[in-house]
Amino acid sequence: NFSMRASAQPLKNPDELIDSVETFIFDCDGVIWKGDKLIDGVPETLDMLRSKGKRLVFVTNNSTKSRKQYGKKFESLGLNVSEEEIFASSFAAAAYLKSINFPKDKKIYVIGEDGILKELELAGFQYLGGPVDGDKKIELKPGFMMEHDKNVGAVVVGFDRYFNYYKVQYGTLCIRENPGCLFIATNRDAVTHLTDAQEWAGGGSMVGALCGSTRLEPLVVGKPSTFMMDYLAHKFGILKSQICMVGDRLDTDILFGQNGGCKTLLVLSGVTTLSALHSPSNSIQPDFYTNKISDFLSLKAV
Ligand code: PLP
Ligand code: CA
Repeated sequence: NFSMRASAQPLKNPDELIDSVETFIFDCDGVIWKGDKLIDGVPETLDMLRSKGKRLVFVTNNSTKSRKQYGKKFESLGLNVSEEEIFASSFAAAAYLKSINFPKDKKIYVIGEDGILKELELAGFQYLGGPVDGDKKIELKPGFMMEHDKNVGAVVVGFDRYFNYYKVQYGTLCIRENPGCLFIATNRDAVTHLTDAQEWAGGGSMVGALCGSTRLEPLVVGKPSTFMMDYLAHKFGILKSQICMVGDRLDTDILFGQNGGCKTLLVLSGVTTLSALHSPSNSIQPDFYTNKISDFLSLKAV
């Protein structure tokens, strides 16, 4: 995707950026926290933005938790964030199915963890699969055929630490054999930082297995797809030009903001280094970059 954007500028005058928008969308991991550890200066920064009347929204591609579970995480970190301000890709999957009036008498097969199941249940959908299918094994006797539910009308795939071959085959049968069955991905992150010691295979690895077996591409509801941006802009009645997207990843967060026509700020408190931003192989340039969001407090106008 060739871009004619100007190179990213270091954030020298945060007040100017803050005054130019009414909403900040924050990515979570790498911006607000790292794993379970709060990033320095975040509470004070969020308080300052709220005191200036800014709307704050939090968007994460991590589908393992529901909105409610993220609400508890924010609370445990001492952050005052309500469930309605949180848009996780687990929630996005349920919101998408609602938005297309997915029939309540059809079922959804889930390759993923608890967050997706919780959101589907809250939205009143019938589902099967999830972590319980992680125990299932296939015994290949001659003539064996796997049975699958013909009433499954959608397969939702997200990050899944209980992933196995049974799930790949079951999801593939639904997508290939049930007429009109949808193939939905919460996100396609290649890697994630489960521990700070190395990169771990992300949600994109589970999605990729189903792409390989079905030869189809999924509909992605997480970043960088525009679904969540459109959804929350509509929900809150905000103009996308009045939003600044803040994230630590170029290929998910910054692209998400750019796809939505928002201003973008890259923070270097997560996975992207300054040299990766400036690398000739990188074509994604945010409007601004800075070390961490608490630079909003400490940087003085020049
Ligand atoms: N997916 C998984 C499984 C993760 O563990 C993470 C980060 O912790 C992410 C995605 C990315 O989350 P975010 O969009 O908040 O950076
Ligand atoms: Ca992130």
